[in-house]
Amino acid sequence: MPPNAPADRLVKSIWYRASLRPRLTVVLCFVAVFAITLILAVHQYFLVRARELDQRLHRLELQAMTLDVAVQNNKQQLRFLRTSAERMIAGPSAPFSPALDAPFQTVLKAQEEPVWSLRLPESDVPIRGVGARQLANIPGLQRTESTFLDDLRLSRLMSRLLSVQFRLSTNLERTAFVSATGVVVAYPALSDEQTVGLVQSLASSRLLQVSRQHPLDYDVIFDPMYERKSSAGPRLLFGTPVMRNDVVRGVILFVIPQRAVQDYMRLDTTPDEIHALVQRNGTAIATSENTFTATDENRLGRLPAPWNDLSVAPLFQTGGGVLSAHQSLLLYTKLPSTDLVLIDYVPAKAVFLAVVRLTSAVFAGIWLLLGFLLWATLLVVDQLLARQIALSDQLKALSRVDPLTNLANRRRLDEEFNVFARGRHADRCVAFLMIDIDHFKRVNDVWGHTVGDEVLRHLAGVTTAVVRPPDLVARFGGEEFCVLLPNASADDAARVAERIRLAVAQTAFTPGQAELRRFAPGSEIWITVSIGVAEMVSDNCPDLESLVAVADQRLYAAKEGGRNRVVADGPARSCEVGRQQE
Ligand code: GH3
Ligand code: MG
Ligand code: MG
Repeated sequence: MPPNAPADRLVKSIWYRASLRPRLTVVLCFVAVFAITLILAVHQYFLVRARELDQRLHRLELQAMTLDVAVQNNKQQLRFLRTSAERMIAGPSAPFSPALDAPFQTVLKAQEEPVWSLRLPESDVPIRGVGARQLANIPGLQRTESTFLDDLRLSRLMSRLLSVQFRLSTNLERTAFVSATGVVVAYPALSDEQTVGLVQSLASSRLLQVSRQHPLDYDVIFDPMYERKSSAGPRLLFGTPVMRNDVVRGVILFVIPQRAVQDYMRLDTTPDEIHALVQRNGTAIATSENTFTATDENRLGRLPAPWNDLSVAPLFQTGGGVLSAHQSLLLYTKLPSTDLVLIDYVPAKAVFLAVVRLTSAVFAGIWLLLGFLLWATLLVVDQLLARQIALSDQLKALSRVDPLTNLANRRRLDEEFNVFARGRHADRCVAFLMIDIDHFKRVNDVWGHTVGDEVLRHLAGVTTAVVRPPDLVARFGGEEFCVLLPNASADDAARVAERIRLAVAQTAFTPGQAELRRFAPGSEIWITVSIGVAEMVSDNCPDLESLVAVADQRLYAAKEGGRNRVVADGPARSCEVGRQQE
């Protein structure tokens, strides 16, 4: 047997089953095509969605790199200023020199003034400071007389550097130096109120504390401190401490308006998403939202749940990726060399709409058209099949029915016999009656063939009324009828035959008015029948053919015997005998 025989058998069996239920097969095939089309569409959607997310992540990474470059740039400049400042105060402290330090004479005594100011001829911004009493409330700052003069000298030198630095930078709002003793020099110049605000903002800054706790750990710190009272909006302070012998002598600060960072973030952010720049402690320092204002307490509270409660530490660890929850996505990427992470909140609906926009209208149109065509074709094919099946059922039924009497014909008789014989045990009886109208030619001769046909229909009705449901009455041909009686012995069959014979003989047929007027030999037609009975087991008949032959011989015997009678046994008792006689 060839190796693919089981496969062949399987294919044939599927094909056979499919051909038995053509309508269901067609519907299932169309449903399968629909399902495949749908799966392809969903697959395509997820491919485009992945590409869309990739692009958003890529844009986010570019934005993060640009922000990182800006931060690095500022850090380098701050490092340069710090090195310069530390060099200036590296040597031993010199005593007051009337020639060099004369301008400081007035402020050396200005301890009680809340804010003081000293204008120097060589600088276009004044040196300013706050009094000892104001400093007392600010941790890390205090008026120390031993270093105050050095701080004034340093501030004088820093004022020039800061102004140059300010002019070289594009996005700085101000450069400043604040000494630990409360001396302030800033470019552009500060008002009284701004001076106090700047000094006070250092109270909460890590710049002073971190450096004091870990002197070797200090560097440039991007430490947003928010001047909440400022009418121009919040600022981000970016600074580095100036050290001498591991003691903080002051801080150099770059003041960046938060608005500048926000404006930049908005540049490459689509309206359907929110970008936010987040520190390690979870505070957002700038977002792409127009209305966002950073405060010390502000975390990601403005984002919808669950992102408002997000722990950002894992984001700093993994460095970049996509999180999804509650119908929204969070894309994130860490700035390459700065301790900040840039996040992108996108509602899932926005991604869906973006994918829909990316899907070509022609493509979507073709897809819809394909679906519609499939649906329409299914309807047409289904209707055609339904009609075809109905027609074929009708034809099949017609081919098994005798058109004159509506009884089963020979074909149906054969089929029914075969079905019954297939499931029959050898010892189970099947009887058969062959019925022939006596002298039927005379009916035709006297009444004409039309009435003869009516008489045939009349006989069909009478016979059918006498037998029981499992028995099948058929027109064998001409004016001969037969009855197949499953599970009936020869005696049972003989009784049924007798009942039929009697019923026919006792039931007159009345022709229609037209025929009566035309022929009028009488008002009724009486007929009789002769019947031959055979049975499979007792007559030893293996098939329908031999059963018919035996019944036919007994019918002949009935005719010979005088007609209007039943012959259920006799010389043709066995099939073999019947055949020999033939
Ligand atoms: P008997 O059987 O008693 O020997 O005599 P009979 O006159 O009935 O003889 P037979 O059985 O040979 O008759 C057959 C006749 O039946 C011949 C034919 O005219 C008639 N016949 C056969 N088929 C039809 C039919 O479809 N319609 C009509 N009207 N007559 C038919
Ligand atoms: Mg006949
Ligand atoms: Mg006859």
